[in-house]
Amino acid sequence: MDVYTKQVAEFHKAFGIPVLNSPQLPDAERLKLRARLVGEESHEVMEALQSGNLQHIAKEIADLMIVLHGTVLELGLQDVMDEVMKEVHRSNMSKLGTDGKPIHREDGKVLKGPGYSEADLTFIG
Ligand SMILES: [Mg+2]
Repeated sequence: MDVYTKQVAEFHKAFGIPVLNSPQLPDAERLKLRARLVGEESHEVMEALQSGNLQHIAKEIADLMIVLHGTVLELGLQDVMDEVMKEVHRSNMSKLGTDGKPIHREDGKVLKGPGYSEADLTFIG
């Protein structure tokens, strides 16, 4: 488990917020709350990015990261996230073109090259 997830696990324990021990979907109410928290904190990051205040931006990014790590814990995904991140990174890197160079859309978005392969997360079950 990475250091941020460990810190958020400490927070969850101190505040009585659930942590599941294996990958599974919690009840609908918990899922709804997590969705609301992710939405609220995402919105606060979007607002902060337009504030021109780097400290405010950093704080809101931290809030969102904490909520995301907390969501990992509430879905019991903490022990598989290293593998998830590795596989998603592998998939992202497969977007490079056959010449090893990135392919960009006009607005800068990264496009998938011909060798792209989707992340395989079937190990989660
Ligand atoms: Mg916030």
